[in-house]
Amino acid sequence: MATEAVATYREQYRREHVPPHYRGWLHLIFTFGIGGTALVWSALQVEQVRPLEWLTIPLTFLYTNFAEYWGHRGPMHHLKRGLRLVYERHTKQHHRFFTDQAMELDGLRDLRAVLFPPILMTFFITAFALPVGLLLAWVASPNVAWLFIATSLGYFLNYEFLHMAYHLPAAHPIARWPLIGRLKRLHQAHHDPRLMASYNFNISYPVCDALFGTLR
Ligand SMILES: [Zn+2]
Ligand SMILES: [Zn+2]
Repeated sequence: MATEAVATYREQYRREHVPPHYRGWLHLIFTFGIGGTALVWSALQVEQVRPLEWLTIPLTFLYTNFAEYWGHRGPMHHLKRGLRLVYERHTKQHHRFFTDQAMELDGLRDLRAVLFPPILMTFFITAFALPVGLLLAWVASPNVAWLFIATSLGYFLNYEFLHMAYHLPAAHPIARWPLIGRLKRLHQAHHDPRLMASYNFNISYPVCDALFGTLR
C-alpha cells in the first residue's frame, strides 16, 4: 500500500509527467525490442575471437557496474551542470513515486517512472557506448569493440529488467524469483529516504557498493 504522501505524489506525477498518448507496453517494446535487436546484431559482428579478446566481456561488466554506481551516486542524487534531467527524474521523481514503504507500481503506465525514457536511452548509447566502441576498434580490434558494445547493451537491458522487477507487485511471477527477491531488498533499502544518498547505489549487482563500502 502506498502511503498518503506517495499516493498524492503519484497522482500529481501521472497528471504532469505521463502524457495521454503514453503506452507502457510500447515503452517495454522500445527498450527490450530495439535494445535486444541491437545487442544481437552487435554480437553477430564478432568473428574468430582470440582467447584474449574474450576478456572484453568481464572487463566491460566491471566498467558498466562502475558506471552504474558512479552515475547513481553522482548525478542521479546530486545536481550536476548539464545533467539536471537525470537528477530530476531520479531524486525528485522516482524516489518520490517509490519509497521503501511503497515499492510497487500500480499498472503499466507507471513504467514511465521506472524505465529510462527512449530519449535518454538513445543519448547514453550514442554519448558513451559508441565513442568507446570506436576507440576500441582503433586501439584494440573490431572484435573487442563489438564485444564491448554487446556486453554494455546486455548490462543495460539487465539493469532495466531488474529495476522493473523490484517495482513489480510482490505477487508477480518475476518478482518471486529468488535472485530478484535478494537484490530487491538492497534496492528497497536504497528507497528509504534517509538512506538513498548514502547506500546501495548499484541497482543491479552490488560489486562497487561492496568495493567502496556503501553496501547496506
Ligand atoms: Zn527504484
Ligand atoms: Zn537512487
